[in-house]
Amino acid sequence: MKNTCPETEDTKLAAAILPEPLAVLAARTACALEQSVQRFVLAGDQNLGHLEDRAARDVQALLREATQRAAQAKADAIPPLCPVCRKELTSCSDGHARTFDTRFGAITVERTRGRCKRCGKWRTPADAALGLEETAGYSPAVQGMAALLASKMPVEDASVVLEHLTGIKLPRATLDREARRQGERAQRLRTRMDQQAATDKQQLELTLEPYQMIIQMDAWNIRERDDWGQSAKLRRAGKEPERWHWVYTGTCFRLDHRGKTAGGRPVITERGYVSTRWGIDALREQLHAESLRRGLGQAASALVIGDGAVWLWRLADDRFPQARQRLDFYHAVQHLAVVGRALFGEDKVKLKAWLKPLVQQLKNQSAIKVIRQLEAALVGLKDKSAVATVTREVNYFHEHEARMDYRAGARRGEPIGSGPAEATCRQMQCRFKRTGQFWSRKGDEALMCLETFWRNGRWHLLFPHTAPVNPARN
Ligand SMILES: [Zn+2]
Repeated sequence: MKNTCPETEDTKLAAAILPEPLAVLAARTACALEQSVQRFVLAGDQNLGHLEDRAARDVQALLREATQRAAQAKADAIPPLCPVCRKELTSCSDGHARTFDTRFGAITVERTRGRCKRCGKWRTPADAALGLEETAGYSPAVQGMAALLASKMPVEDASVVLEHLTGIKLPRATLDREARRQGERAQRLRTRMDQQAATDKQQLELTLEPYQMIIQMDAWNIRERDDWGQSAKLRRAGKEPERWHWVYTGTCFRLDHRGKTAGGRPVITERGYVSTRWGIDALREQLHAESLRRGLGQAASALVIGDGAVWLWRLADDRFPQARQRLDFYHAVQHLAVVGRALFGEDKVKLKAWLKPLVQQLKNQSAIKVIRQLEAALVGLKDKSAVATVTREVNYFHEHEARMDYRAGARRGEPIGSGPAEATCRQMQCRFKRTGQFWSRKGDEALMCLETFWRNGRWHLLFPHTAPVNPARN
């Protein structure tokens, strides 16, 4: 290939004086690409990766220029109306420059600003049209990338990964700030959506087959630190700057959305997730709204599954009064094991021999049969602490007897354990509970909210320029 068109001093000079038509810039970009291709073909030590990187850099200037012009043209075309109430703005003035980073580099846009008398606020309609209102200075594409990366990995990694993959430089602190800002925006959107779900008259969709709604909850904890930068001072005063804080997580799905992969692994094709550190009340409202969005209103029945925590059943009584309740089977087995240890101490062989048939009975027969045997074990038991333990566990089984309908549940094809909720907690912990990691109250809720938007397949509601993704995970 000989017919390349090397750039001359004349074309550079012309470009500096007059804005080049995009087609000219595109032609120059094509020349640069051709040169890169030639160099690549001749370079014995380069593989295709070298060209891929080089080509992406070659087209960067063209893409940046196109984006800049498009942004400016769009800003110019926006009528001077308040983006909130649509009233005409007054005292308008032009030329308010704003520079921000896009995925192709920094661009500057001049905008019109005016006052909305009805809202009593200064408004810049172009910012709303371009998606720049709720950002520290990044285009929507960069906002989305910062938010996604920060919700998936520690920010120091996110910053390096982002630059490595895209060439976008976002220092750690800036990326952190931008991700939190997007997380706060996600929280506001979540609140609006939850209110809507709770007040909406549910559109009665015709369901071909009656289905059941499964709702599961669990809790885990993260380490938080409130007074950033004050740790040493607090420690000197005898106070610990860190504390553990509960995060409440819930998941809901339709029983008929449960299936298996080709490889036989059980999956749930559509599933709602909720995660919050704002306490049980917040979980209650968020999980109720999520269940409504997933079809609770049309469900023939609902089933709440969880471990034995008191808060969980209270929440279920309060928000899902029609739902049946089931104690996680594995949890019940753990309580049987507690009795076994009280009876047999360290004798593992005896413990196993005693436990195995009871577990089978609990699963395949009935809880009351198991309870009768625990009560029988109490008779003649001498050791005081063993008596106390077994008595406590007998009471526990009595209290939850109605929630131990494992045989009937399994026959109906319902889950008997809260595995999906626990799996969700484990996945969340991979991100939010790393060694040496501390969170602030605001920061973790914001990032967790982003994570739930992603998991729920609603990322595109937050970043409408992205295609819907359903990262079905189990
Ligand atoms: Zn207004």
